[in-house]
Amino acid sequence: MNLHSIGVIGAGTMGNGIAQVCALAGFNVTLLDITETALNKAIGTISKHLDRQIAKQALTEQNKLAALGRIHTSTDYSSLQKMQLVIEAATENLDLKVRLLQQIDKQVNVDCVIASNTSSLSITQLAASVSHPERFIGLHFFNPVPVMGLIEVIRGLQTSDATHAQALEMATVLGKTAITAGNRPGFVVNRILVPMINEAILVLQEGLASTEDIDAGMQLGCNQPIGPLALADLIGLDTVLAILEAFYEGFNDSKYRPAPLLKEMVAAGYLGRKTGRGFHAYA
Ligand code: NAD
Repeated sequence: MNLHSIGVIGAGTMGNGIAQVCALAGFNVTLLDITETALNKAIGTISKHLDRQIAKQALTEQNKLAALGRIHTSTDYSSLQKMQLVIEAATENLDLKVRLLQQIDKQVNVDCVIASNTSSLSITQLAASVSHPERFIGLHFFNPVPVMGLIEVIRGLQTSDATHAQALEMATVLGKTAITAGNRPGFVVNRILVPMINEAILVLQEGLASTEDIDAGMQLGCNQPIGPLALADLIGLDTVLAILEAFYEGFNDSKYRPAPLLKEMVAAGYLGRKTGRGFHAYA
């Protein structure tokens, strides 16, 4: 693969994980965010994650230092000039992403592939904001990036076969399995997962079973590692609601209507683990 330098935009939860796996795979990474504080925090997080791998004897101290040495940080978009791939993992907001994609577009060479890690925005629409939309693609990593084995590769209407092939190769080089999805709200995994969670909430709302029994049913009956209501608490009930609303509007289909109980929980501020209370209580 003729790819050496990767830009990662956004040094938050996903960006620092993407930078970590790319650096461990041997790429030079330029990690870009709006503040030095965000970048320093990301490097601290990556260093801590690599230490955990050393403790598990999955990595040597020398490899850690080499990987960290391959990550350069910047707050200046002109540092992206020589990148062959730029992965955008900034805040999930359409206007913000369009603006930063235009900034990336101004800096990179014509042969650079630009990818977005968006969970819910249209790859076709994002691609329309760059001058070579055929070189634009969705690379949807899963959280936590270093642990999860999947990347969803999303083709926009404009994405070329060559860009798609490069994305698949990139996933392999990073040690991930890629699945390809078309550009529809939720792509594949969230499209299946989130309505399942909504159905679990409807079952609870109808009083068919208790929270504990619904989760135990799906864990023991379907071998799911975590029950759907506990998973909703982990994702954040506000996020689950936002995804369902995006499906409802994106498909114009009533089958995606959010459970009224979910709306009530969000209105009450019971958002799951992050607020200490969701379908389960957290200390
Ligand atoms: P986050 O809030 O943890 O991080 C976003 C980062 O983007 C922040 O550090 C912020 O300072 C930075 N940013 C904002 N504007 C910027 C700009 N103009 N230039 C450079 N950096 C900028 O968010 P996250 O959870 O890492 O999500 C990032 C993307 O990944 C989103 O598109 C989200 O939908 C997607 N995603 C998230 C998850 C998840 O579980 N968190 C999973 C898959 C995909």
